[in-house]
Amino acid sequence: MASCRRLSGAALREVLGSAQGLLFDCDGVLWAGESAVPGAPELLERLQRGGKAALFVSNNSRRSVAELELRFSRLGFRGVRAEHVFSSALCSALFLRQHLLSGGAGDSSAVGRVFVLGGEGLRGEVRDAGLRLVGEGEQGAEQVHAVLVGYDDQFTFAKLAQACAYLRDPRCMLVATDPDPWHPLSDGQRTPGTGSLTAAVETASGRKALVVGKPNTYMFDCIVERFGIDPSRTLMVGDRLETDILFGKNCGLSTILTLTGVSRLEEALAYMASDSAAAKDMVPNYYVNSIADLIPGLDE
Ligand SMILES: [Mg+2]
Repeated sequence: MASCRRLSGAALREVLGSAQGLLFDCDGVLWAGESAVPGAPELLERLQRGGKAALFVSNNSRRSVAELELRFSRLGFRGVRAEHVFSSALCSALFLRQHLLSGGAGDSSAVGRVFVLGGEGLRGEVRDAGLRLVGEGEQGAEQVHAVLVGYDDQFTFAKLAQACAYLRDPRCMLVATDPDPWHPLSDGQRTPGTGSLTAAVETASGRKALVVGKPNTYMFDCIVERFGIDPSRTLMVGDRLETDILFGKNCGLSTILTLTGVSRLEEALAYMASDSAAAKDMVPNYYVNSIADLIPGLDE
């Protein structure tokens, strides 16, 4: 059972020494708003020099992975390429491609048409996956194969009604990029996230969404498919117990909570003290105050 121990000293060297690679959540782990967490760029460079894989797994569906690559370099992280980044936008597009274009829609010749509630970053990933986007306000007899809900700061009642019209057809899938109930803004404020919009669509349509992002293991499947990593030698580092740490647990990874983001140490300890098995799944193996605390565990 996970014991939420502070990771330092000999244990830190042992845990990092035997790890082949680390998966990092981004917001609240590598950066907060528009600034990098101090020491985070150095940690990534040290991992690279030490021959350890660093991959990134973000529930943020607002940006395409190409935009995320630019964000890494703007914030001072060197050598992070788009192919190392797995966002819920990218993985949702891959999920839909898998289900709509490989015979999963019942007709392998059908071109998947997707109605997206979300911004240009998400729409771009869906397009790049070879799927067709349904236009806003579009009406027509052509079948829509999926409604995809992501973070949408232009969410309107008209879009909700359009989504519900498509979802009356039981063949139309309802997919959400991530479960996050709110979305952090760069000024420290927060705004309703994908989880809130998904709840609105579910209530209005009477349908249940399939959620691609963490804690669902689908994003890990995408990572394994591309990089063939060994779960028993991979660490998951995140700031949110309910998504990152549960995701790590679901994927069979050892987990590290970092305290620069959303979840507090007290919450992890409360989950540990709980009698509920579901709560215990959100207890990390280790915690650090910041990922900069991992640097001393790496060889020079
Ligand atoms: Mg985070």
